[in-house]
Amino acid sequence: MDDPAIQNRLAFDRNHLWHPYTSMVEPLPVYPVTRAEGVRLYLEDGRVLVDGMSSWWAAIHGYNHPALNAALADQSRRMAHVMFGGLTHPPAVELGRRLVALTPAPLDKLFFADSGSVAVEVALKMAVQYWHARKQPQKHKLVTIRRGYHGDTLGAMAVCDPVTGMHRMFAGVLPQHFFADPPRCGFDDSFDPGDCDSLQALLERHRNEIAALILEPVVQGAGGMRFYSPEYLNVAREMCDHYNVLLIFDEIATGFGRTGKLFAVEHTRIAPDILCLGKALTGGYLTLAATLTSERVATGLAADGSGVLMHGPTFMGNPLACAVANASIDLLLASPWQARVQAIEQQLKDELQPCAGLPHVADVRALGAIGVVELKQPVDMSRVQQRFVAEGVWVRPFGRLVYLMPPYIIAADQLRQLTRAVVKVVSEISNRSAA
Ligand SMILES: *Cc1c(COP(=O)(O)O)cnc(C)c1O
Repeated sequence: MDDPAIQNRLAFDRNHLWHPYTSMVEPLPVYPVTRAEGVRLYLEDGRVLVDGMSSWWAAIHGYNHPALNAALADQSRRMAHVMFGGLTHPPAVELGRRLVALTPAPLDKLFFADSGSVAVEVALKMAVQYWHARKQPQKHKLVTIRRGYHGDTLGAMAVCDPVTGMHRMFAGVLPQHFFADPPRCGFDDSFDPGDCDSLQALLERHRNEIAALILEPVVQGAGGMRFYSPEYLNVAREMCDHYNVLLIFDEIATGFGRTGKLFAVEHTRIAPDILCLGKALTGGYLTLAATLTSERVATGLAADGSGVLMHGPTFMGNPLACAVANASIDLLLASPWQARVQAIEQQLKDELQPCAGLPHVADVRALGAIGVVELKQPVDMSRVQQRFVAEGVWVRPFGRLVYLMPPYIIAADQLRQLTRAVVKVVSEISNRSAA
C-alpha cells in the first residue's frame, strides 16, 4: 500500500469520484482491484479476496469467464453498438427469444432497458399508459409493500420503502403512492391470510386511482433482505384481478437462479402482467435490463390508437450486452445450477447458524444462494469492511444486515471461508457491544 502510484490513484478517487451511497466529504475507504477471476478479487497490494457479493447479485458465474469473454470479443469484432431505432440485430433477437421462452407464458413482449432502474421506470410507464389508453387516466398511482427496493431513479424511488429505501430526503419531490404492510409470513411459514389485509384495504379504497401493484417476489433485496411466503403472491394476483390493477414483479435481483428457481415467480402458481429483469442478465459483464409484458398489456397500451410506448434509451438493446447475456444464459442452463444453489443454501444454513445464538443478532436466514445475518443495530461500515478484508473475503454489509450471495460456482471450502469470516466478525461485534 506504500506504492506512490497506488497512493496517488487513491487520493484522486477520494477527492473526485463518488462511490455508491457514499459521501464526497467523508468517503469510506475503497480497495483498489486489479483483476478478478473465478470467485477471487485480486487487490493492488497483492491481497486476494474470496467474493461473497457477486458484485451485487450479478456475477453468477464468477469473474473473467472464458465463455463470456469469448462472446464479448466475438461480438466486438462485428459491432459494439448500433442504434435500436429503426435497426435490429441477431444478439437482441436471440436474447428476446431466450427470455420469452424462459419466463411465464403470457410474457412475450419485451423492452430492453439499460439498467434495472430504467426497466422499472418502463414497467411503471407501461402500467400508467395502459390505463390511460383504456380511458381511465385517473388510474395512475401505484401500490407496493414496505421494505421494497426498486432502484434509484425518481420514479423507482417513489415505490422504494420510504424509510429503508435510502431516499427519505426526497419525500417532498416524489409522487405519493400507497404502501401496504409487508408480509410477515416467512418463506417456509404456513400462510396467514391476514397478511394480505393491508393490501386489500388499500386496493378496496383506491382501486380507481391505482394502475399497478409492484413488488419483488419472494425476496425483498436491498430494502431488508426479507424472504416471504409465495402464497402472498398467489393471493395478491387474485386481488389485482378483482380490483382491476396490473401486477408488476421486479425480479432484477431474484432472476436467474438466485432463489433456487430460475425466476422467483416459479415459487408461485401465477404470472405477473409485467416482469423486470436485470443484474445477473449479463452474468455481471455489462449493464442491461429488460421489461417483459403480455399481449394483453401491449395491445392495451395501443387501445387509444397511438400504441407508442414512450421510452427509447440511446443504448437500447446494446449488441455487446445482448451477446454476453445470451452466452451467460446458455452457460447457466448448461450448468448444474439448481444443485449448486441448493448446496449453497444448505451450507449457508448450517454454517451461519452459530450466529443465531449471539446476543446482538436478530435473525439468521438463507434462501437459495442468499445468506443473511440480521443484527439488532447497524454495523460500523468502515470498521467491519476492514475486518472482512483482513479475513480475506469480500463481504459488504449495509445497515443491520451482513449477507452473502456468492457466485454459484463457489467451491464448498471457499464458501466456508466466507461463512467463517461472517461468524467471526459478527461475534466480534457482539463481544464489543457487550463489553
Ligand atoms: C438493483 C435493483 C434495481 C435497480 O437496478 P440498477 O441496475 O441498479 O438500476 C431495481 N430493483 C431491484 C429489485 C434491484 O435489486
